[in-house]
Amino acid sequence: MLDELYPARRLADAAAAAARSGLDALLLTPGPDLRYVIGYDANALERLTCLAVPAASDPFLVVPRLELPAAQASPAGRLSLEMIAWEETDDPYALVATRLGRPATLGLADRMWALMVLRFAAALPGARQELASKALSPLRSLAEGHSRADFAIVASGPNGASPHHMASDRVLRAGDVIVVDIGGTMPSGYCSDCTRTYVIGEPPDDFAAYYQVLKEAQDAACAAVRPGASAESVDAAAREPITAAGYGQFFLHRTGHGIGLETHEDPYIVAGNAEPLQPGHTFSVEPGIYPGRDGARIEDIVVCTETGCERLNNVTRELVGVRI
Ligand code: ZN
Ligand code: ZN
Ligand code: ZN
Repeated sequence: MLDELYPARRLADAAAAAARSGLDALLLTPGPDLRYVIGYDANALERLTCLAVPAASDPFLVVPRLELPAAQASPAGRLSLEMIAWEETDDPYALVATRLGRPATLGLADRMWALMVLRFAAALPGARQELASKALSPLRSLAEGHSRADFAIVASGPNGASPHHMASDRVLRAGDVIVVDIGGTMPSGYCSDCTRTYVIGEPPDDFAAYYQVLKEAQDAACAAVRPGASAESVDAAAREPITAAGYGQFFLHRTGHGIGLETHEDPYIVAGNAEPLQPGHTFSVEPGIYPGRDGARIEDIVVCTETGCERLNNVTRELVGVRI
């Protein structure tokens, strides 16, 4: 079903984006860029699988002979895309280099292995290597928005102040604050991410007060989302009430990250990112306050719409008390 939804025009869009970005070709090895462009969720192996998307000639997929059936069975098999299978004794880097001729600039998949980056540098010594995200990030950050849970950050008591703490065997006690951050992946490959904070029984003294500040900050940041607003203005909107209440030093991280085929991708909602938001941009708004002995975070995924902001997570953001 999902295969039928796969948009075949992405290959042409990627070539046009490469041309606009001044890249003569994109080289995409297994990972989210490759999956985005041709729908092939390829195995990452030491044997080279690489989609070459020249800005001005036909794309081709170089694939180890033993992976060819998998490539053909993927949505890529229904595109008019040449697949070149290489044998165990072939040099696939030389094969790509010969086909590309003399490119001056190459956009390499951001997650390409160093092994492959260096072999491409040797095979195409005249080409300057840049990141493919220069061309692909604007396409990927505007595309759509759980087949498996990818992570569950559960931080209780003193661990609540550690934003990426993973679940441990610590036993919960009365007065504990619990930060639960869960993300997963839809069958389409698109990711989710959501954080809520819970308290066992009565919260610690000043906790209820700073949780209220946090909730206001998260609302303010969502209210700042609209087309043309900069990513950093959303970060500033979250930071302002937290700083005014005296907790600024305890807001340790950026306000959010783009989300799509990767859990963390462009656009990053952080000071210094002046990129204007556009309808379709999808990202997290997740301010946190971590004074030390406990901490709290509220995270929703939001979409920038034509008129403002749509939140995709709608579970209550009120502090939820749990009885044990
Ligand atoms: Zn995170
Ligand atoms: Zn999260
Ligand atoms: Zn997140």
